[in-house]
Amino acid sequence: MADFDYDLFVIGGGSGGVRAARVAAGETGARVGLAEESRYGGTCVIRGCVPKKLMVFASAYGDMPETARAYGWNIAGDGFDWLRFRTRLHAELDRLEGVYRRILGNSGVTTYDTRATVVDAHTVRLASGETLTAKHILVATGGRPVRPELPNAHLGLVSDDIFNLGTLPRSILIVGGGYIACEFACILHGLGVKVTQFYRGAQILRGFDDEARGLIAESMRDRGIALHTGTNIVEMTAQNPDNAAPGSPVRVTATTGHTEDFDAVLFATGRTPNTDGLGLEQAGVKLGRGGEVVVDDYSQTAVPSIYAIGDVTNRVNLTPVAIREGMAFVETVFKGNPTPVDHDLIPSAVFTQPELGTVGLTEEAAAEQEPIEVYCTSFKPMQSAFAGHDERVLMKLVVSKATRRILGCHIVAPEAGEMIQLAGIAVKMGATKEDFDRTVAVHPTMSEEIVTMRHPTRSA
Ligand code: NDP
Repeated sequence: MADFDYDLFVIGGGSGGVRAARVAAGETGARVGLAEESRYGGTCVIRGCVPKKLMVFASAYGDMPETARAYGWNIAGDGFDWLRFRTRLHAELDRLEGVYRRILGNSGVTTYDTRATVVDAHTVRLASGETLTAKHILVATGGRPVRPELPNAHLGLVSDDIFNLGTLPRSILIVGGGYIACEFACILHGLGVKVTQFYRGAQILRGFDDEARGLIAESMRDRGIALHTGTNIVEMTAQNPDNAAPGSPVRVTATTGHTEDFDAVLFATGRTPNTDGLGLEQAGVKLGRGGEVVVDDYSQTAVPSIYAIGDVTNRVNLTPVAIREGMAFVETVFKGNPTPVDHDLIPSAVFTQPELGTVGLTEEAAAEQEPIEVYCTSFKPMQSAFAGHDERVLMKLVVSKATRRILGCHIVAPEAGEMIQLAGIAVKMGATKEDFDRTVAVHPTMSEEIVTMRHPTRSA
């Protein structure tokens, strides 16, 4: 057998790559190397989930003085200090990056702070020119945001840029209707930025439950976000031709014919897998039409010694899924226990205000599949209703008529992400509507409604 430098070489130090590297090294004694060209922690820790969620928290305080006053407190809101927040944010990201580095070191993983590319089935080349051999190579290089094909698109920001802004713009145009567009629309609005959002389709959050999408869109508009559906940019130009850097003020003409000036534009128009120039195709790895690495159920590519996990495979682009894929890879390759990745019934949340928590099929997809009953309620929750706010929450169960199993659960409410994690366990276990019914309500809560809906709202 050939003598390799490593048993495993991981390219990419994000959630999936770090997990696979440290478990392979720490639990199986494998000799593991890992290369990361940017910062350890990847998209989730450095420019995604973590800083985004901290910004969600920051933005939620905007409403609090007014709500607190309704509850009898004498509180004045003195405005938001972006730089004070940003300093703390970056300190936290530095801390987390340190944790990731230490975890790798403590597990015995050798790290290379540089770019690595694939030479062949068992060889990687570092940017320094050094080549290293490995019995297995794991590609975990993630993805990156893309700007649309549009003249002057370089003037727009992408989500990576938001966490490093020198100042918050007074006004921003956000383009897109997916997770990132909707989350940043709510975050920036909450921080005091005048937000306009263009989405080219008829309703934001395509792929999610229609009723949930409708309520979130309505809540965003009620909060003051100028959400325009069926709208896109026709033309964008720098307001000042001498300042044409990304994030500089722009003049935008929309498909509606309307022209408006914005301090900045943010493109949240999707992400693309990081496979450019990695040498994968030359090594025999197959890429899909979007540049994603094509893998089987075990994350194995067309080259048997090369595997790929996480966003670079464009399966379900969520951190916990990349981590699962990394664990399944180690189980399969280093523990002799072939483990396919289970991508069914993944709970997830969109951190809009209010949040969306979801697991399973939408009403629309379930109705295509089989006869269903829908149990749905929408109401003003006690905490905000007391303060005089009109915002509504939504609780919805999609039930199979034949098996009574819950096919989908959709919650639009404050903390819906926390709720759906727990509902997700029941749904994953195959709970029926009757299992929900015989669970006693926790009173008074918002989520008790999920076990007290007695009569179907409709059948399909
Ligand atoms: P999405 O693919 O979800 O959304 C992209 C949006 O941009 C869509 O609304 C799309 O419209 C629109 N769009 C695409 N191209 C253009 C164009 N040329 N002009 C105008 N609009 C365009 O990507 P995101 O970047 O929002 O998120 C990427 C992934 O990251 C998500 O799918 C998710 O897996 C993950 N993520 C998860 C989060 C969470 O769990 N909370 C948070 C953030 C990201 P259309 O619908 O018509 O295609």
